[in-house]
Amino acid sequence: RYSFAAGPAMLPSAVLAQIRDELPDWNRSGFSMLEQPFTTSAFKQLMAETEQDLRTLLSIPQNYRVLFVQGGASAQFGLVPLNLLRPGQSADYLESGHWARKAIVEARRHAPVSVMASGSTQNFTALPAAQDWQCDPNAGYCHITSNETGNGLQLPHFPELSVPLVADMTSDFLTRSVPVERFGLIYASAQKNLGVAGLCLLIVRDDLLQPPQPSLPSALSYAVQAEQQSRFNTPPTFALYVANLMLRWIKYQGGLAAMAAATERKSRRLYACIDHSGLYHCRQPAVDRSKVNVCFELREPRLLSAFLSEAEHVGLHHLAGHAAVGGIRASLYNAMPLAGVDRLVEFMTRFERIHG
Ligand code: PLP
Repeated sequence: RYSFAAGPAMLPSAVLAQIRDELPDWNRSGFSMLEQPFTTSAFKQLMAETEQDLRTLLSIPQNYRVLFVQGGASAQFGLVPLNLLRPGQSADYLESGHWARKAIVEARRHAPVSVMASGSTQNFTALPAAQDWQCDPNAGYCHITSNETGNGLQLPHFPELSVPLVADMTSDFLTRSVPVERFGLIYASAQKNLGVAGLCLLIVRDDLLQPPQPSLPSALSYAVQAEQQSRFNTPPTFALYVANLMLRWIKYQGGLAAMAAATERKSRRLYACIDHSGLYHCRQPAVDRSKVNVCFELREPRLLSAFLSEAEHVGLHHLAGHAAVGGIRASLYNAMPLAGVDRLVEFMTRFERIHG
């Protein structure tokens, strides 16, 4: 059985097996991982190791802090302006799709926001051309969504800007290497490529940390969490443990180069099937297509429910497109093996032969 869900995603079977083995008694403590206090030296060690593995995998420079917080990327949509902007400052956003729009709506509740370029005229089936981005040199930051999970669009490159670049990397985090030094802040929920829900990763340049505005709860302040090594309050302990295992698994597979190569291979195989078919159709231009969330449609939309139910029947689950977009979506996160994509391609070919 394979889950193509946009998240929470499948875990590698080796990671699941380790969780099962260690669940009753973690680290010979006599207690389950679910029962571990976050203040013990063993748990602090787990957090330090998790941070170190992330630093190594992503080559995170010394002047960046890694924070482990709760609330998911959706909470960051509001917390980014509250933490990064100074009074009177505005922010620029790239409106690339569903998730960028969510980020904009939340940010606007707290600060003036300008949309520097938008894909709305193309109904978010393509990315706004990079030369059309109009970034205000006085903006507090410029926000992008590296991968639009629902629209199947992914930024291939990241610009070098004079203002801090902030990225929601929730859906393609750790599927490729990124030039961290170009960013002021990267944030990502963990439940797609780094384990389970409950944990959000922040990688923030230390000169952007500032004392919280009086109205900002301390637990939600990046500066306070940085000062307290993400232990101002209880961190999401189990999700951190799973992230630790996922990072070890990624290292064992060959690091981000191996993740990127696998992602490339899986997505190429699926797009080739779509592009060579008379039944399936992908609106996104090849240069903008996501390698992580492959979104496509049936030329005969009436076949959609048969496609989804027959797929489920053969163990290919959660292929429905995002509720706001429709169609079909196959999410190919790190834990999805090539064999899963092969099974999907086989199914799609057979389905087309019968119904096409
Ligand atoms: N940003 C992107 C790109 C996403 O794909 C998602 C969830 O799918 C989110 C933000 C929201 O994440 P969360 O539900 O953890 O807040």
